[in-house]
Amino acid sequence: MSENIRVRFAPSPTGYLHVGGLRTALFNYLFARKNKGKFILRIEDTDRSRYVEGAVENLIETLKWVGLDYDEGPDVGGEFGPYFQSQRLELYHKYAKELIDKGYAYYAFDTPERLKQLREEQLKKKLQPKYDKRDLYLSKEEVKKKLEAGEPYVIRLNVPPSEKVIVTDVIRGTVEFNTDIIDDQILIKSDGYPTYHLANVVDDHLMKISHVIRGEEWLPSTPKHVLLYKYLGWELPVFAHLPLLLNPDRSKLSKRQGDVAVEDYKAKGYLKEALINFVALLGWNAGDDKEFYLMDELIEKFSLEGVNKAGAVFNIEKLNWLNGEHIRFKSAEELLPLVKEEYEKSEYANLNLSDEYLLKIINAMKERVEFVKDFIYTCKYFYEAPKEYDENVLRKRWKADTPEHLKTLLDEFKKLENPAKEDFEQTLRATAEKLGIGAGKLIHPVRLAVSGVGKGPGVFDLLYIIGKDEVIRRIETALEKIKTEEN
Ligand code: GLU
Repeated sequence: MSENIRVRFAPSPTGYLHVGGLRTALFNYLFARKNKGKFILRIEDTDRSRYVEGAVENLIETLKWVGLDYDEGPDVGGEFGPYFQSQRLELYHKYAKELIDKGYAYYAFDTPERLKQLREEQLKKKLQPKYDKRDLYLSKEEVKKKLEAGEPYVIRLNVPPSEKVIVTDVIRGTVEFNTDIIDDQILIKSDGYPTYHLANVVDDHLMKISHVIRGEEWLPSTPKHVLLYKYLGWELPVFAHLPLLLNPDRSKLSKRQGDVAVEDYKAKGYLKEALINFVALLGWNAGDDKEFYLMDELIEKFSLEGVNKAGAVFNIEKLNWLNGEHIRFKSAEELLPLVKEEYEKSEYANLNLSDEYLLKIINAMKERVEFVKDFIYTCKYFYEAPKEYDENVLRKRWKADTPEHLKTLLDEFKKLENPAKEDFEQTLRATAEKLGIGAGKLIHPVRLAVSGVGKGPGVFDLLYIIGKDEVIRRIETALEKIKTEEN
């Protein structure tokens, strides 16, 4: 495809970036990058009642964090700006005026009370609430008089009765709407701001947007947009409505059922790579069952044809798994700064552990973690001596002859000089042989004495990382404590 591909992410800044918004932004981004087009950020801030201080900054920061860089937008500029709708009001008025002149829109002067009453009457008659076009029939003079008298007004779209509007959508195919179910949509509100519908269409046209890729919740609005394009004499963009995001119980993904803000996932320690990978799979696949992706591969593989119609289930276990996979994909050196950040926030920060020590932990634990913080909290024994010993393991592995065996092992460990992992292993196995017991009879109690638990990385890695002196101290402590606990 050509350079004429221009797509946009057009959020309303209501406070935070929703994961559904991230999915929309990502699919637009992937489509633009794949087709060497442009990705534009446009802020749809015309609903002043929903204005939230700091929301735009927050949104931009979140997009930057995940790496969705845009070619045009509020802070980067571009030839089609401004990229805030609140700074484009004259444009919307100009086109609203044009629609009025052509008879496709009209002024309406209804009071809120009248509209409320109209609605109630229609509901009572089991009719769909709709504006009754009362003011469509005002004469030009009447309208002029009311405007001059400063009467509050809105501008409405003049939707014709009983016409078919066809929306062609790359994902959903052809969707037909009858205009009888379409209200005479307000285009300009009484505060002078446009509604989403007018502003969105005007901007998509003026910003030369080629493909409108957005959530399925906007599909019912699309026939109104199609009418606007037609009445303004503009060419339609290609529409692509992305499937809804669902909870595992197939209800619509909502705040009530968990986190929906991207920043919450960030705060919980998800890697941006994992989040992007996960969100990419919400309604898209490359036609195979591959699940692990980096951004570059997503760009290479993405197509709108790969987007499904069916709702996409938001499965947090999959995100957790992907997070672990993306951790494993990184080298220990790449993980070090991330682990250090967690470490420095932890209660162990004052231990002043060296990078070298942390790297050893990272290598030992990499295969076993889902989160960066797991490098600390699932293996506290690398940071402090165990405060207690897992009772189940104790019962199973700590036998009456264990203290005696461990004492022999301790004597051998004490003779070691600067032991490597292999030295711990050889010494332990030789001691087991000398004692005439299986190595397991030493391995399990040693692990318990040193870590307090029955699971973890290989025991010889554990001993090597913790180091000879500390290993000896911990075994001695265990011998004292476990004896007293048992007696
Ligand atoms: N401002 C709308 C939103 O908040 C944009 C919808 C669209 O992309 O047309 O999602």
